[in-house]
Amino acid sequence: KYRSYPYERMLKIREQNIAPSLRMYYKKPLLLHQGHMQWLFDYEGRRYLDLFAGIVTVSVGHCHPKVTMAAQKQLSCLWHTTNIYMHPSIHEYAEKLTSLLPDPLKVVYLTNSGSEANDLAMFMARLYTRNFDVICFRGAYHGGSPYVLGLTSIGSYKHGVANGFGCSTTMLPDVFRGPWGGSNCRDSPVQTVRKCSCSEGCHPAKFLFLFLFLKTFSFLSWQGINGAVQYPKGFLKEAYRLVRERGGVCISDEVQTGFGRTGSHFWGFQTHDVIPDIVTSAKGIGNGFPMAAVVTTKEIANSLAQNLHFNTFGGNPLACVVGSAVLDAIEEDSLQKNSQDVGTYMLLELAKLRDKFEIVGDVRGKGLMIGIEMVTDKDSRHPLPYEEISQIWEDCKDMGVLIGRGGLYNQTFRVKPPMCITKKDADFAVEVIHTALERHMERAAAN
Ligand code: PMP
Repeated sequence: KYRSYPYERMLKIREQNIAPSLRMYYKKPLLLHQGHMQWLFDYEGRRYLDLFAGIVTVSVGHCHPKVTMAAQKQLSCLWHTTNIYMHPSIHEYAEKLTSLLPDPLKVVYLTNSGSEANDLAMFMARLYTRNFDVICFRGAYHGGSPYVLGLTSIGSYKHGVANGFGCSTTMLPDVFRGPWGGSNCRDSPVQTVRKCSCSEGCHPAKFLFLFLFLKTFSFLSWQGINGAVQYPKGFLKEAYRLVRERGGVCISDEVQTGFGRTGSHFWGFQTHDVIPDIVTSAKGIGNGFPMAAVVTTKEIANSLAQNLHFNTFGGNPLACVVGSAVLDAIEEDSLQKNSQDVGTYMLLELAKLRDKFEIVGDVRGKGLMIGIEMVTDKDSRHPLPYEEISQIWEDCKDMGVLIGRGGLYNQTFRVKPPMCITKKDADFAVEVIHTALERHMERAAAN
């Protein structure tokens, strides 16, 4: 079918007909043909171990047979919106999804993307509290739509127009770098959360917008796109208390951290021993199929019921059967346990690289959500220059391992594979990263 689309022609079409804001990975971007579980294949038949899962989207495995079959079956039956009629799929899905969430999180609103879900969560929070101010952390990514872009506080996603009225950004309680990083910090972040929730010229915190969870060993929590940044133990609990004390509600963005990826728990917030007022999820919820969800309490959901609020595609039968099949696959394939087992194993193996190489500043994570922070040296913790990190990353790709990037300076490798990855795959990945690091050292020595 694609014989008339040679690589060069596609590059030209990209230049002329595809939005330039969509940036691609790698000097020579991959031309992908097929995916199977934790593997991707290009048109030349080369196989890659996917450690980034289509940006933390493929939860149960590329083209997982159970999910594919459920979609195929529904595709030949009915797939238009059924929001004004009834169809069993949305009922089955709402029942299944809410059974995985604690009380009082029992009401589901299905959307099509994480941005949409977070938009809606923010809207509901404002309607319910009648407060306007929203707080997020520096370095947070919550979506690209204009409403929620105010909460996305990574410079590279910001554009030159005003948006996000009422959105404030607090300092990031990062224990590796920043005001709380290293041994120089005076106040603990938990002490300073009081200061940051009231500082930055914003009104006292009304609600806090978060996505985070704890690190396996030291019980630290961390962000996704900003490079798996850790939050300290007890931070979230204190933050929730302060926000609620001020009449706010807490939203947990589980777009990357939900569905068992952290291993020990199904949802990231559970690792902090808190229960949010609103939970949003996307990406892994559909294993790559565009769907997302907002789950909240009856009271908060009712705030939106005074008038109509409609989403044409949200909760369509195709999305709902896919969502159900994903939940079944997580259970049947024991993927949460696999995240825990393989994730912990991989963290320990990667920690050996941190101990061996001066440029590996930190290895952190929980389950299959891992960050490898690259530095010039462990003392200064300066980010390794972009070109040097990029070469290591390209070398890994050339050896058959795809890794994500993140962090304020693009200094962190993000390892968030499909949850079906095995220990053998982890060994292969660590060996490849090890070789790429050795090559870097050889290059550095030669210069
Ligand atoms: N929240 C988080 C934590 C995300 O990582 C993303 C996507 N990277 C979003 C929200 C937005 O999701 P979407 O791209 O589906 O709009």
